[in-house]
Amino acid sequence: MIVVSYPNIGEYERIVYNFLNKIIDNSNCKILRPEKNNKKILELGEENSPTNVCTPFKYTLGSMINSLNKGANVIIQIGGGCRFGYYAQIQEKILKKDMGYKFEFINLYNGNKLEFFTAVKKVKMLNPRLSLQKLLKEIYFTIKLLRFSDNILTYIRENECYIEDKEKLQSIKNNILNDMLKIKNISEINLKRKECEEEIDTLIVEKDDVLKIGIVGELYSLMDPFSSSFLENDLLKKGYKIKRYTTASYLLLDKNKSEKKLLKDSKQYLKYKIGADGTESVAHTLELIDEGYDGVIHIKPFGCTPEINAMPILKKISDDYSFPIMFYTFDTLNSDTGFQTRVEAFIDMLEMRKK
Ligand code: SF4
Repeated sequence: MIVVSYPNIGEYERIVYNFLNKIIDNSNCKILRPEKNNKKILELGEENSPTNVCTPFKYTLGSMINSLNKGANVIIQIGGGCRFGYYAQIQEKILKKDMGYKFEFINLYNGNKLEFFTAVKKVKMLNPRLSLQKLLKEIYFTIKLLRFSDNILTYIRENECYIEDKEKLQSIKNNILNDMLKIKNISEINLKRKECEEEIDTLIVEKDDVLKIGIVGELYSLMDPFSSSFLENDLLKKGYKIKRYTTASYLLLDKNKSEKKLLKDSKQYLKYKIGADGTESVAHTLELIDEGYDGVIHIKPFGCTPEINAMPILKKISDDYSFPIMFYTFDTLNSDTGFQTRVEAFIDMLEMRKK
């Protein structure tokens, strides 16, 4: 029997599960959902990765090793973009040659390019009866689902500080997360969207003077809560208004068309794209200043060159606008307490400035 798994990245894992579940469609194939990132997964990745590789490589490798240990015999590496695009080849070698795992590796990317027809052939391995028409239909549905979940979760994130009934809010969020696993068609998505928006709008209350903090930086740290020590959730729980731009739908569907505008918006500081999400970090920080945000936290994993490129530019912006920016690099040896202390000190300073 085929047991298929894939590396974890935040809650997006649910959407991948939903997609796979539909395309395997009663074939001789079982889906093994990857565990959420945790210490054990990071250790597995760390032990078996080249030392200086950036941390998302270690997380994704650790996630695959964990699934192989639990019986997966097919792994799909779905990442793409930046070095993610080339991770797969190295990860396959580590897993097969260095570690001796015997399994089928489905790499959907060649470098940073999705090779659609090669990907189709490989995905058919999971269900030989899968027609191209059905596959295209499910891809279209998955794009809609991704848009829905990103849009609604972004809306919640930006309004959470104005919601006092936290219990109700949590139940709406839990429902959305459950729906990501099992929602079946586009009319269900539309219905759900309407329901969620109406429910959230009834919970929002007016509040002045909420501290507004933007989070920018590297995509994996932004989208995977464990790899950024649950920064976003902690700030939301404390009642601050949070803005984070990076989502999977932005990266997969909007990034290419947005980059020209982002470069134009930041032309005072950037002439060329600086790779991965470095351009976004600069352009979005300028946007946050414009929108009256009180400060920005820039996060990146150890070894992330595009975000290292963005840092001196962000420091210059911070000086020019007298705008507070905190920088933090996550690596495998980080202490959560140390990080939280830095964030608390930064927020104390923002609150004092605001007063
Ligand atoms: S953006 Fe940074 S951390 Fe992410 S894959 Fe590229 S170099 Fe690595």
